[in-house]
Amino acid sequence: MGESKNRQVVISQKKKKSSGRGLMIAFPIVLVLLIGLLVVLNQKSEQAGQDAVQSALTSLSLEGQPILGSADAKISVVEFGDYKCPACKDWEETVFPKLVADYVDTGKVKFSFMQFPFLGEDSFTSAYASEVISTNYPDAFWTFHEEIYKQQGNERTLWATPDKLAEIAALAVPDLDQEAFKKQLGEQQYIQQAEKDKSIGAKADVQGTPSVFVNGKQFMGNYQDYDGLKRLIEQELAAAGQ
Ligand code: CA
Repeated sequence: MGESKNRQVVISQKKKKSSGRGLMIAFPIVLVLLIGLLVVLNQKSEQAGQDAVQSALTSLSLEGQPILGSADAKISVVEFGDYKCPACKDWEETVFPKLVADYVDTGKVKFSFMQFPFLGEDSFTSAYASEVISTNYPDAFWTFHEEIYKQQGNERTLWATPDKLAEIAALAVPDLDQEAFKKQLGEQQYIQQAEKDKSIGAKADVQGTPSVFVNGKQFMGNYQDYDGLKRLIEQELAAAGQ
């Protein structure tokens, strides 16, 4: 290192005359490189801007919500969903398993689901059923959640009847009193819980389902774009020093 530094000094002394011209040549090159760097940085920040927008809520409280994964995880991912929504079923069966394997099972992310029923009667009845299960049988919640998507009916039909929901719930809770469960579907407590979830979503500017939030930032990419969602999660992990 020391030797080459000395040599540089010697050369610059020898070429004193030409150094002015060297600078003239170097200056436009540096300028072009700088402009190039700015363009790249700008594209990167634009890309990050497309990935996510900060919701009106700085964070989404998970209080009283079902949580999958370690409660200590610094990053939270929340899905607002509607059990009648075919895109939610698709997300559940394609993106969700990857998210669980990469981030939930590794302790980096805690995942929660909030109700955003809006498509029709089935949306509401199944949201109430989901609240009954998450409140009374929290250990069975994710099994129920998976099962209801698995058995989702055609969007144009009325499929989430109390009988069907009780049948699905009994798969998650084998000793379920199905008659009592069907009565609970009409109870105010669960209706209000579902409405509360939806109003939180509305405040966070949820426009459709599935809507996914990472630490309160809404993922704006296509719902099937797992790589985009990953980028957002990685940004949050880096910001949390992980
Ligand atoms: Ca809820």
